[in-house]
Amino acid sequence: MTNATAFAPGRVEILGNHTDYNGGVVLSAALQLGVTATGCRLANGEVQLGSGDMGDMVTLNRNEGLKPRHDWTDYPLGVAEMLARSGAEAGGFAVQYESTLPSGAGLSSSAALEVATAVFLSRLYPFALSRMEIAKLCRRAENEFVGVNCGLLDQASSVFGRKDHLVYLDCRAESVKEIPFPAHLGLLIINSSVKHALTGGEYNERREQCFAAAAAMGVEALRDTTSAALEAADLPALAKRRARHVVGENERVFEAIEALRAGHGEKLGQLMTASHRSSMENFENSTPELDLLVELAIQQKGCLGARLTGGGFGGAIVALVEQDAVEDVLKNVKSVYDTKTGYSAAGYRCRAGVGALPPDHDQA
Ligand code: ADP
Ligand code: MG
Repeated sequence: MTNATAFAPGRVEILGNHTDYNGGVVLSAALQLGVTATGCRLANGEVQLGSGDMGDMVTLNRNEGLKPRHDWTDYPLGVAEMLARSGAEAGGFAVQYESTLPSGAGLSSSAALEVATAVFLSRLYPFALSRMEIAKLCRRAENEFVGVNCGLLDQASSVFGRKDHLVYLDCRAESVKEIPFPAHLGLLIINSSVKHALTGGEYNERREQCFAAAAAMGVEALRDTTSAALEAADLPALAKRRARHVVGENERVFEAIEALRAGHGEKLGQLMTASHRSSMENFENSTPELDLLVELAIQQKGCLGARLTGGGFGGAIVALVEQDAVEDVLKNVKSVYDTKTGYSAAGYRCRAGVGALPPDHDQA
């Protein structure tokens, strides 16, 4: 094929907060919002990259070697480079990106950009990589080429999403399952408009505290213990609270899966609100703005639960809302939030959407 197009969605973390680096489990949803890559082959290794949001077209030649340029092109170039290293044959290409995802809002525009690139290139220069191999290759591009130390959740959600399903990722096994999600429920993401500062010391401090708590429990990772064992253990109070959050999140993910398989969407809502309370009390990765958004959301008719999503320390909440109540919930929450805080909350109405590649990709 000399022309190709590919769409890859962003994602929202539904449950399983800070579990990834603890060998744990996460539930996420792919969004309808995402990045579309459209373009064609070019001869002689020439590469042209353009994005609606990013100014002039960037032109280079891949035969001269791909190196980070320290701007947005590192995401697609990183993917092209990792594909080349994995032995997938690819030549020159021109690509234009269009995005419906806010960038830097915690909805994983970076993974959408990577996955859209990989799938676009797989259509221009066909190669036989499975969905998981593509997700891992995109993560490697972000880790090694862009230099961001992210886990697999963003890329796996973008690749594996499925309409009316959540993506379950076991971060230790690096395996994915699809979990049915009630079609009458919607996801409302509300950004506090206060920037998430994950590069700050807090994120690394939490990681260290989790690793220390696991060591004190005599396990490899917090994945390997239970709430009951933790409460019975003799641990310093702070370590115990940090671990309580992560261990509780893993347990809530398993509970949610059982509830969803039995068709109980309300239970997922309760677990999401419990997750937020645990963030507030145990992990202390919430902010007054996120707490306010959650409190306002869960007071609304048709809202089944809400929690902060992603790393915390700012960013967005996700609320589980009856489809026909979504507009009212957003309007009411935004009006009180904006007046009280002086910030402007931004809402994104979503449903669990399709990923970049269909399940039968792996059989092809
Ligand atoms: P998130 O993944 O949460 O949106 P990141 O900081 O990980 O935030 O990724 C945002 C970066 O991804 C942007 O700074 C930009 O470099 C790149 N990016 C995202 N969307 C686009 C786009 N449509 N076009 C070009 N670059 C984009
Ligand atoms: Mg990102």
